[in-house]
Amino acid sequence: MNKPLHKAILPGALVNGQPATLGVMGGGQLGRMFVHAAQAMGYFTAVLDPDAASPAGLVSHHHIQTDYLDEQGLAQLMQRCAAITTEFENVPAPALMTLGAQRPVAPGADAVAIAQDRAAEKAHFVRCGVPVAPHAVIATPAQLAAVTDDLLPGILKTARMGYDGKGQIRVKTREELTAAWDELKNVPCVLEKMLPLQAECSVIVARGADGQIVNFPVQLNLHREGILAVTSVYEGAVPADLAAQAVAATRAIAEGIHYVGVLCVEFFILEGGQLVVNEMAPRPHNSGHYTMNACDQSQFELQVRTLAGLALTQPRQHSPAIMLNLLGDLWPEGASPDWAAVLALPGTHLHLYGKLSARPGRKMGHLNITGATPEAVRATALQAAALLGIEAF
Ligand code: ADP
Ligand code: MG
Repeated sequence: MNKPLHKAILPGALVNGQPATLGVMGGGQLGRMFVHAAQAMGYFTAVLDPDAASPAGLVSHHHIQTDYLDEQGLAQLMQRCAAITTEFENVPAPALMTLGAQRPVAPGADAVAIAQDRAAEKAHFVRCGVPVAPHAVIATPAQLAAVTDDLLPGILKTARMGYDGKGQIRVKTREELTAAWDELKNVPCVLEKMLPLQAECSVIVARGADGQIVNFPVQLNLHREGILAVTSVYEGAVPADLAAQAVAATRAIAEGIHYVGVLCVEFFILEGGQLVVNEMAPRPHNSGHYTMNACDQSQFELQVRTLAGLALTQPRQHSPAIMLNLLGDLWPEGASPDWAAVLALPGTHLHLYGKLSARPGRKMGHLNITGATPEAVRATALQAAALLGIEAF
């Protein structure tokens, strides 16, 4: 059971003799942006991450540099923090249970456990009445043999630990399916029918321990090679009826597990116009980074509010926005992209995560572009993309 939050943790308050401190498991860029938001509101922060150069550890008041399951590390985090959140979904469940026994932890171990497992996640979506891709769980040879032909061509995905298209193999025939499952070392998998996608979108909600829930607008997402490349958010980017369906589905999915914290749900829009849920992330999401500059509250501020037990108010988008993901591929050998030229464009907001080495596919930062109209934002975003070497969209 998760220790409940009885009263709000206020910035600047003394909790057990120390300034109110919020903790995060994981020191990646999402943790870093959480730390920035918490500090802006006057909280102290603590990050647990084994990496000495983790993006969040570098900017936090405290960096506990141990493994996620290290008992002393977890004890230190609890000693420091009034409440604790996570920034990646693969935080080991036992660590969250240990923390949750003594401190409010949001999201809780049970919600994270569902999001960690594609099979459990799909079962939850079905329980909430939200359509999913036709699929089958393959954890045993008998389940492999029982797969029906209507799931082919399909995508075989490991049930756990997949991200950015990793742990996935596309298969056309039963022979390819068998070979793919072997290649994935016969770990539990989900085979999904390959669907004809017209587009992809996502919705981010924040839900408090008191059940109050608010949402950001629907985000239109373009993926390239399994990684988010561009997010566009403005009136008309996603048809209004589909957007309303996606928001209602996301709220139902969060409420169905009594979720506390920030939750992102990803959807497919099929060629026929139907909405199908893909997966969820129990944390702020790459597709929500535009909120930092285009909304009156960012997804990270809402994460702080849900964790500290503060009131939630419906966030308002004040500017049309496009976010460009900045992957390591954009860094020429030994140099940086031409930021001076990019930042000379109107409404550009650069966010870099403090990572010292750029590798292909590595998320180094993002560029938010805001403007008065969707047309203006698109024109600037395309100019920025051309300067950076990002393919037009
Ligand atoms: P990850 O956890 O790596 O983000 P996803 O399940 O979201 O994995 O898959 C990555 C991308 O692959 C999706 O954003 C989508 O573009 C494509 N994809 C995944 N599943 C399907 C499917 N059933 N049909 C068509 N495309 C898919
Ligand atoms: Mg995904």
